[in-house]
Amino acid sequence: MYGLYTNRWFFPPSRNATKLSLPKTPPNLFLFSFHFFYNSISPNNPISFDFLLKSCNSLEPLKQIHSSLSTTGFILSNPQLGAQLITKYSKFGDTDAARSLFDAIKGCNSFLWNTMIRAYANVGHCNETLELYSVMHRMGIRSNNYTYPFVLKACATKSLVFGGKSVHLDVIRNGFDSDAFVEAALVDMYAKCGEIDDGRRVFDEMSKRDLVCWTAMITGYEQADRAAESLVLLSEMQQEGLVADSVTAVSVASAVGQLGDVQKSRSVHAHVIRNGFLEDLIVANSIIAMYAKCGDVKAARIAFDGMKVKDGISWNSLLSGYAQNGFATEALLLFEQMRVSTVQPNPVTALIVVSACAYLGSLHIGRKVHSFIVSGRMKIDTTLWNAIIDMYAKCGDLETAIQVFDNGHESGRNVSSWNVMISGYGMHGHGKEALHLFSRMQEEGVEPNHITFTCILSACSHAGLVDEGRKCFYDLRKKFFTKPTVKHYACMVDLLGRAGHLEEAQALIAEMPSEANDGVWGALLGACRIHRNAELGQFAAKNLFRLEPEHSGYYVLMSNIYAASNQWHEVGKLRQVMKSRGLKKPAAFSVIEFRKEVHGFHTADQTHPEWMEVYRKVEILAIEMKMAGHVPDTSCVLHDVEEEDKEHILNYHSEKLAVAFGIMKMDEGIPIQVTKNLRVCHDCHSAFKFISYVHKRKIVVRDANRFHHFQDGCCSCKDYW
Ligand code: ZN
Ligand code: ZN
Repeated sequence: MYGLYTNRWFFPPSRNATKLSLPKTPPNLFLFSFHFFYNSISPNNPISFDFLLKSCNSLEPLKQIHSSLSTTGFILSNPQLGAQLITKYSKFGDTDAARSLFDAIKGCNSFLWNTMIRAYANVGHCNETLELYSVMHRMGIRSNNYTYPFVLKACATKSLVFGGKSVHLDVIRNGFDSDAFVEAALVDMYAKCGEIDDGRRVFDEMSKRDLVCWTAMITGYEQADRAAESLVLLSEMQQEGLVADSVTAVSVASAVGQLGDVQKSRSVHAHVIRNGFLEDLIVANSIIAMYAKCGDVKAARIAFDGMKVKDGISWNSLLSGYAQNGFATEALLLFEQMRVSTVQPNPVTALIVVSACAYLGSLHIGRKVHSFIVSGRMKIDTTLWNAIIDMYAKCGDLETAIQVFDNGHESGRNVSSWNVMISGYGMHGHGKEALHLFSRMQEEGVEPNHITFTCILSACSHAGLVDEGRKCFYDLRKKFFTKPTVKHYACMVDLLGRAGHLEEAQALIAEMPSEANDGVWGALLGACRIHRNAELGQFAAKNLFRLEPEHSGYYVLMSNIYAASNQWHEVGKLRQVMKSRGLKKPAAFSVIEFRKEVHGFHTADQTHPEWMEVYRKVEILAIEMKMAGHVPDTSCVLHDVEEEDKEHILNYHSEKLAVAFGIMKMDEGIPIQVTKNLRVCHDCHSAFKFISYVHKRKIVVRDANRFHHFQDGCCSCKDYW
């Protein structure tokens, strides 16, 4: 069909040309043949070329027109034609041809320079745009309101804030700072470069603002994590009678998610529905993410279920919503649904699901997800690989974690890989191995970061390695010239406190360069509980109640200390404070995997289908343990009731129910593995030691802090936790 584009077309067509076979002719060809015929304009006239160029819709004919034009010399005398050719070339993806034409004809006419700059900017060739602009500048060719918007666009895309600022100076120097298009481009550039305050200054001085500018500012605030200001601007925009479009709606949804504002999330959703934006997949996905970030997973699920078309982002948004809000079981169920859907899980999905398994301590499902990843030949990047190691360690399978770690990753281990493995050893109480890995890491030339030190200090703490921990803390400052963070101090206080060095811990807090936070005081309070030091505990608690007045866990911990020393009056006072502030003890929850299913138990749970059998088993176990010499430790029962009642309350702790369920259901010899969301209590800890001895059963409990491996009457934590 390109045969039609021969030079013969540039001569007046004969009458026969009207009888051209129309169906075989592309519409635009038909158009200009028509044009020639009826207007009888000479093709030796630039106006005819102009028409030809306008109707040309692909590269080949464009090249032919260009070569015909070259013979006429029109291009040199008519920059309009040259500009059209440049624009067309870049539109059809041949910026090289556009550039060589430009180089041949550019001269000092800013019109052609602007055309080439725009051509580059429109196809995203930012470097070329900026390079051309600087050549233009050097040659003294004046930039104008047709130059700046495109140069600023390139700066915005590349986040070149200094480049953008120097363009801004140029804009002011040349007097284009009140041009609406230039102003809009400046606002957009500053917003995208994260210089939102500079953007705001330009925005505030604008005489006329369109929606594009409002959107740029609203998005800019949201991207700069200044969600509240983003929403204030939205309401100002609405006051000016402008309606948020779908692009703005996405930013607003994200801002509301950042703020976790449940009420506003509903009104954003309503706005989106009212304006019919939900058909837009990006908007619909942003609504799911918004609800998920607000913690309203139910609403996220409803929004998800209502979508006619879903993509990977829709699934991943809901999955991470479940995972981040502690609904790990729901996340795993959703993953199963995704696997049989038309959308295939991607590495992001895998990362979310592997992390959910780690959170839940669900080894069986974790293994399944791992083999799914491997069998599906999914690309395992280092982040996912680290998450897999972490999952095995957190699910109690330290051996597989070590194996995966030792096998290595194709792009090598990064500092997070080492951190994950060190922390894995730490939570299982293998302090020496953690220290060994810490030195191996340095031998291999990997520089430890502040997280590494947190991991190693807590590993020392869990293993009671006081001297080694002290040395690491010293090295941190002297060898690595790093300032210890508050987290490092918290780890040190924990390490010293657990080992009974309460005074040293207290002195360390006193010498901290910044104010101690709740983590530091919490560690001291925990140590006071272990060593039954009510006086120092009171001091720590006073600070905690000031810093975190709403955190019920600290009240409970202090109550435990009072209860242990029979100060029931103080326990009662604290209970009153909790009541008046509407604080509740966080609900304990333990899970156990049995036959590919996760069974969960709350304290004194009566919702499990087999709760009566479980209760009976718990009572039998209690008798067996008593006969073996276990004395119930009632110090952690807050109620001032008779000892016998306290024992009764202890029996139905969530972790005891889960372990009893395991003993009831699982074959002999199979270790029982339970995950608890809070710290394991003293009585349960002691009870599990007895059960492991009496029943010759390995029991593994992962609590909020670490792993406890109970075997033959001992625990791997050596009673440090
Ligand atoms: Zn307990
Ligand atoms: Zn233990």
